Parts: sequence; C-alpha cells; structure tokens
Amino acid sequence: MAHLTFLGGTDTVTGSKFLLAAGGRSLLVDCGMFQGPREVSQLNWQDPPFAAALPDEVLLTHAHIDHSGYLPRLVGRYAYEGPVRATAATADLLGVMLPDAARLQEETAEYLNRKGYSRHHPALPLYTPEDAERALRLLRPAPYHEWFPVPVGRARLADAGHILGAAHVTVEVEGHRLVFSGDVGRWGVPVLKDPEPPAGADLLLLESTYGGRDHPDDLDPDAALAAVVNRVAGRGGVMVIPAFAVGRSQEILFRLRRLEDEGRVPTLPVYLDSPMSIEATELYRAHVEEHDREMQALEQAGVAPFRPARLRLARTVEDSKRLNDLEPPFIVLSASGMATGGRVVHHLKRRLPFSQNLVAFVGYQAEGTLGRSLVDGAPRVHIHGDEVEVRAEVVMLDAFSAHADQGELLRWVQEAAPHRIALVHGEDEGRQALAAALRESFTGEVLLPARGDSLEL
Ligand SMILES: [Zn+2]
Repeated sequence: MAHLTFLGGTDTVTGSKFLLAAGGRSLLVDCGMFQGPREVSQLNWQDPPFAAALPDEVLLTHAHIDHSGYLPRLVGRYAYEGPVRATAATADLLGVMLPDAARLQEETAEYLNRKGYSRHHPALPLYTPEDAERALRLLRPAPYHEWFPVPVGRARLADAGHILGAAHVTVEVEGHRLVFSGDVGRWGVPVLKDPEPPAGADLLLLESTYGGRDHPDDLDPDAALAAVVNRVAGRGGVMVIPAFAVGRSQEILFRLRRLEDEGRVPTLPVYLDSPMSIEATELYRAHVEEHDREMQALEQAGVAPFRPARLRLARTVEDSKRLNDLEPPFIVLSASGMATGGRVVHHLKRRLPFSQNLVAFVGYQAEGTLGRSLVDGAPRVHIHGDEVEVRAEVVMLDAFSAHADQGELLRWVQEAAPHRIALVHGEDEGRQALAAALRESFTGEVLLPARGDSLEL
C-alpha cells in the first residue's frame, strides 16, 4: 500500500514537501521552506511529521528556496544523512542559494536580537551556513529523461522550463504513476527549453500559482523593455531593475543584449550589482544541457548571450557604492526582486527622489513589500528609517513571468491525461479558479488537499 502525504506547498505557495511512502520506505519530494507572513514562516519551526522516522531519500524539483530551503534544517536539526537527488544544474545552483539562505537567516536573527524584537528567547537562525554546507554534501546529481531507482520505486525527470535545472518528476510506485509538476515555466521564453509534456499520470500534482490568471498575450516583454530603456536614455536618467538573482536577472540580460544587437535600444552601461546574480549567470552559461536552440546557436557563433555591450559586474560592496556617483544614463540590475533587502534597496533610496529616473519591476510583488508599495503608487516610502519621496517613474512590466498561466497549465494537463489531479502551490483564489476551469474540460477527480492530508494511491 502506497501513501502520499501533503506536508507543504498546498494552500500556500511555499514550503513544498510531499512524502511518498510504500513498503516501509519513503521518499520526500521537495524540501521547501515556508516563506511569507509570520503565521506561514512560523511553520518552519514545527517538527515535521517525519521527524521521528526520516525519509530514506529526498528528491528536489528545483532550487528555489520554497522547494529546497528546508534541507539544511532537515540536516542540522534532525540529522538527515540520506541522499538528495536533483539535476546537475539544480545541485550547482543550490551551492549558491543554500549558503545565502543561511546567511540571511543569521542576519535576520541578529537584527531581531539587536532591536529587542524577539519576545521570549534570543532569536535563532533556522539553520547555519555549516548546516547548508553539510546539506550540499548529500547532493547526488540525477539525469534527465532516464529512470533511476528511488526507495519507493523509480523516478524520471523532465524539463520544466521554469529556472535553470527545474524539472518535473515522475515517480512509479507499486504500479501507480505520479507526476509532480514542480513549478511549470512558460513557452517561448529565451534561454531555457520549453516545458516538456508530462508522461501519462495516474495522479498529477499540479502547481496553481497563476491558476487564476491568463498572462495578457498582447504584451511582448522585448517591446516593453525596449520602451522603458529608450525613455530613460532619452531623459538621461538611471533605470533600476529589482530582479531575482536566479532566472529573472539572466532573462533581462539576455533580452537587453538581444535588443542592442537588433538596434532597438542604445547601448547604455549595464551594472549587474549582485554577487549571487553574477554566480547564477555563470551557471546559466555553463549548463549547456539546459539551453534552448537560440542559446545553442549563440554559443556556437561565439556570442556571449548574457552580455550587453557595456556590461559591468559589481561584485564588492565598494563596487556597488561607486554606482551612487556615476554619470547617468545607465541601468542597474540588482536583487532582491521585491526590494525587501539586498543592494537594490540602496539604489532605490538614491534614485527614487528624481523624476528622470525609472524603476522597472519585472516580477510579482507580494503584499507588504517595498516593491508592492512602489507599484501601488506610494508618493513616499520609508527606507532604512528615512522617508524617501518617490518622484521617479515606477513601472510594472507585466509581460515577465516565470510561471505558466491558466491556459498554459490546462494545455500541459491535457498532455498528461491524468486520472486525478491534486492542485498545489496556490493561494486559494488561484486554486479555486484553476479547479473551476479544469472541471469544465477534465472528467477526472480534482483534489484541493490541505496541509497534512494523506491519500492512498
Ligand atoms: Zn520556483
């Protein structure tokens, strides 16, 4: 008898964890951290149901922290020592991302203690950089498109087209076939291959982040980006692009370079101001097995795909500070994507008060973040304790997204032809909307599992 238990990534987007058990063995698919408001991030501190009997093996769909960031906790707190399988590119990205997540944990704990915000005990990090290093040593690269044994049966990975290394996972257990979608990317986006059709599934666990939305198809990311670059160049301003270090930064660099090659924008100095973005960009370049045809052709022609003509890398804090005094126009691409921290916050503080400047957001801005306030048109914001007037132009480039929308998910599902679908990784609205759309075209059962639910296969 095989069981699947939903431990996270159910009614919230984060904390993705699914435990598959059969014949006294178990496999944990994804090991994500809960992120977001306090009542969600709090869940990271509770003992997981498998604390007493750890999984025999972990298999990750991709490197995003909401799918992988609990791993150092599993290692540091519960002494997990089994193998962790992931694609080679995911393993490399984790080498950058998990130590960074640990540093962020430590900084946050220090900050809370310094400010005396922690009510009972000193605030602690969920894990340390040493825990992250130990977790990295458990990584075992798994191939794409080949069956390999896992404790409950066998598994196979296919391209998800979401970020470098992202896969969807098929697991066969006691004659049942399960597909874990991970996060499904988009079709026709440069750099990575498109999402592959999922193999016929008895049960499909389907992400529903944008289950309630259709990306407007009249929006062309290149045209949108070209328009803002030309505008800011014309008025001699600085353009600040807050972007996630992994994925979005590379897409922006690629599109800027291509727009320059096509003569659609002037060649402005472009500063990539994020050590993690710089490292991630190198990995995007190195993992040729992930590249789509256009990327392969560029590499063969000797074109550096992520290098606009006047690209500069700002590695150190001093490099970053020097940008404060540079003569505009230029472009700064820096993390974090929602301006909740990182170097981009300093650039915003410096550039927001001047009307010739422009801030372009290229990803979802969650409620309560500085990015969201700016996108919502706040006339002034607080940064590092100071009030900052917003006179710069702030735009949201809606054409960018790393998640499939409703129409794309429905098309993907058709190819899987599953008997049952469990909708995961969605806020309520997205899940309900996708469930309603599925019920129109899909005759099988549609489940909306809650955290802790278990089902027999
Ligand atoms: Zn993701």
